[in-house]
This record gives sequence, C-alpha cells and structure tokens, in this order.
Amino acid sequence: MVESLTFCGAAGTVTGSCSLITSGAGRFLVDCGLYQGNRSVDELNSNPFPFDPEAIDFLVLTHAHIDHSGLVPKLVKEGFNGPIFATRATVDLLEFMLADSAHIQESNAERRNRRRERRGQKPIEPSYSIEDVNAALEMMQPLEYEEWWDPQPGVRARFWNAGHILGSASVEVKFDTDASGNTLRMLFSGDLGPDQKVFHPEPDAPEGFDYVVCESTYGDRDREDYTLQGRRDTLCRELNTALERGGNVVIPSFALERSQELLHDIHVLLEKGKIHPAAVFLDSPLARKATEVFMRYADSLEDIEVPNTDLFHHEKFHLVQTVQESKNINGYAGGAIILSASGMCTAGRIKHHLRANIWRPESTILFVGYQAHGTLGHIISNGAKKVRIHGREFEVNAAIRRIGNYSAHADQPELADWIMERMPVARVFLNHGENDAREALRKLLIERGVKPDHIVIPAFDESFDLVAGTALSKGRAADRIEDEALQRDWHSEYAVFILRMAEQLRSIDDPIERHQLIVKMEAALQD
Ligand SMILES: [Zn+2]
Repeated sequence: MVESLTFCGAAGTVTGSCSLITSGAGRFLVDCGLYQGNRSVDELNSNPFPFDPEAIDFLVLTHAHIDHSGLVPKLVKEGFNGPIFATRATVDLLEFMLADSAHIQESNAERRNRRRERRGQKPIEPSYSIEDVNAALEMMQPLEYEEWWDPQPGVRARFWNAGHILGSASVEVKFDTDASGNTLRMLFSGDLGPDQKVFHPEPDAPEGFDYVVCESTYGDRDREDYTLQGRRDTLCRELNTALERGGNVVIPSFALERSQELLHDIHVLLEKGKIHPAAVFLDSPLARKATEVFMRYADSLEDIEVPNTDLFHHEKFHLVQTVQESKNINGYAGGAIILSASGMCTAGRIKHHLRANIWRPESTILFVGYQAHGTLGHIISNGAKKVRIHGREFEVNAAIRRIGNYSAHADQPELADWIMERMPVARVFLNHGENDAREALRKLLIERGVKPDHIVIPAFDESFDLVAGTALSKGRAADRIEDEALQRDWHSEYAVFILRMAEQLRSIDDPIERHQLIVKMEAALQD
C-alpha cells in the first residue's frame, strides 16, 4: 500500500489543522481543528469531513487550541471510535476548551436559525453538542513527553515539547510500510513557540526524518528578539500610556496561555509599582478555568517571578464569573484593565466590552495576539473608522494599540532554525500559514541550503503519495473551498461596502443630492 498524506485544513490558512495519514499500518489523523475566519471558512465546520470518520483508527492531538482540536466532537459524532492521544495537560485543558466550543456552536446555530426561520428556511443543526464533547473526552488517553507509545501494531509515536502553550507538543510517528521492516519516520511540528517565552522551555525534537510537516504562521515575520523582560517593559509602557488617558484598557486575549501570561506580567508590574494600581478584570469563564489548570501545573512552569502559591492571585485581580459581574465592569469609571476573550473578537464577552469602550476617546483597545483575516479583531486593528458589533454600528474613537511581542508562535528565523535542526529531512511540508508567510519561509530555507524541490507548499485538501522520500501530489482530495475564499469573501467585502455607502450618504447635506445618488445606485443595480 502506498503511504499518503492529505492536508484537510490549515493549508493557505491558519485554522482547521487536520492531517490525514494513510498507510499499511493504519489510517490516522494529526489534529482535528475548527475552521475560524470569514463566513465561507466557518461553513466548512458544518460540511462533511473529506474522509470517512469511521475509517480512522486513531487521532493524535498536538495541543488544546480549538483550531487544532475543535472538530474532535464532530468526528466522534460522525462515527470515529478510536483512541485520542494527547499530553496530560492538553487533556485537562480540553475538558473546558471543547465544552466552551460546543456552547459556541449551539448558540451560533440558534442565532442562524432565528434568521433562517424568518426567511422560511429549514433549521440547521449545531456541528456538535456537549454530549459529543463528553463522548470525545472519554476516548482521550493522556501521555507524557518523550515517551514512546504504540497507538496500534506497527506504529510508534512520542511527543516532544513544542513550547507553544501548556501541554503543546510536536509529534514524532514511526510506522512500518511493509512486512520486511521498512519504516517511515515523520514529524509534525504542531504549533511551535518562540525561544523566549514565560512558562515553557523552547521547542525540542530529534533529527533525521523522511517527512517533516512544519507550521508557518509567522513564516514572513522577523520579530525583534524579545527577552521576557523586554516584553514586560513594552506592556508596562502601553498600560501606563493607556491608563493616563483616563479610560479603560480593553485587551482581547486568548483564554488559554495569553491571559495567564498577561496576568503574570501585570502581577509583576503591580508588585514592583511600575504601573498605576488599576483594577484588573479577567472576564472570560474559559480563561478562568484555563487559569485553574495552569495553577495545577505551577510546579512544572518556568520563569515564574511570583511565589507559586500567589500565581494569578493579587488583591487587584478580579476573576469574573457571572454575567452580572461582567456587566458591572461597564460601570467602572476608575480606568480598569479588562482582559476578555475571544482573542480575535469573534465571540464571547469581549464584544460587550468593545461595545462599551470602542466609541470612547479616552479608552484603549490593546491587541496582543494574532488576528486572522476577516475577524472583527483584524478589522479593528487594521484601522477601521467604524465597525459593526452585534449588528450595531460603532465609531472607533478609542486608541487602537497593538503589541506584537506576546506571540506564542516562533517567528521566521526560529521556524527556520527548528527545521534546520531536524535535518536530514527528505521533504519539508509548510502548512498552517497564509500563502505569503509560507513563500517567505520557503525562500529563507532555500537560502540556508535546502533544495527547492525538497520544500512542499500544500494546497487546501491536497493529497500526496509518500514514495521513497518524495511527495507526489495527487491533487485535491476534496473540493470544499476556493483558495481566494480562504483569505477573503464577499461577506466581509459586503460589510465594508455597506459601511462606506452609509458614511457617504450621511456626509451629503443636500436631500436632493442624496436622492440623486440613491437613484444612480438603483440604476447601477438594474444594469
Ligand atoms: Zn496553537
């Protein structure tokens, strides 16, 4: 049987990570992530998988981020019945991450169904429910780093620290390709962390592979070298400037890892008297639960600068629970620091805090994480003058600030270093990145001596035969989405167009002139 590898997501985009490996030793998936982005990308979540879930023998998860694990309950719902392998901390985190995701799936379906009912359309079902999550959790097998395990006869695997978030791992897989003892050795990077990051050591893995699949989220970005101290200094400056403006500082923050990093740094800054003693709210039920898991693993975390027992505890910290407590923050006049999720402003309580603050000139919205194309966070951080939140239009008067040094991802030189340290490698696949990022990383690898035809940039759903160290494209295994739609679609273009049109019409004082413009647009529609 010919071995093959299919990229069922995270190719030309950074979400929906899912690689399918078919071999004589079995059929398995590395990651099964949710697609996040514009509406065309979101719709992939409710479409069928491009493979039969029942035919998958086992699943390996690299980490608990939802773009790597968020479709696991759907996989189970649709018939997958094998073991799910992940590190111990990943399993602990997934208990909350997947429950939260189910909740979002259900409320999104409800909202869409209200709209569909008005249009006389049939209701849609959520991608999965909390029951599917619980079934998936039952199938999880927690494992340690660097210890071999046998998912099934003929296959061995082990996890390596990826330094990205708590529990994150790269996964090494070795499997028999025939009865005469030939084996194939592969490494999937998962998401890789930067060299310098609080809590976790830098990524590690062995060398010498037939195939390496490496992420390239920041394949085109060369960040300054930030030390832990340098990062905290930048945060300190931004917070002081923002608090001096007199308003609240709203920080859209990923519930997992980023929120805990920020809490730790703010704690240190408060202790040292470097920032004004403002109230700090962590307003995300998911972030609060993730924080509890971090506390459980406190002894294994690195570079903590407060006593382990005080980690995430400070008299100024409010770990918000109820909706009422969340609403009360709006009445806070003293200039508060509000950390809330989701990190890209696509759902959750952050939207309420944006509504309450984005139009106020004294407020600050501080972005500290990656913003994917088409998300509300991307629109705001790219300088939109007006935005729509929950169907209402808001002027952007708050200061929009962005600090890029809190990334949980390796940057371009770090990714290239990680790949070069794995050599010799017959073929390197660059996935989990937008096309510009993957091209830039490919160029750098060639400069460092990797042969151009040894680097493969897979397309979405593209499948490869793995024969004697080569990768022969078999084209797309499914036809689910256009390349163009991965980056942008008419829904987001339409939203921008509507805002501009409304602005233009409002700027015309003369009612006759305004009427004439509408008549002209009507005529254009008739064309
Ligand atoms: Zn990740």
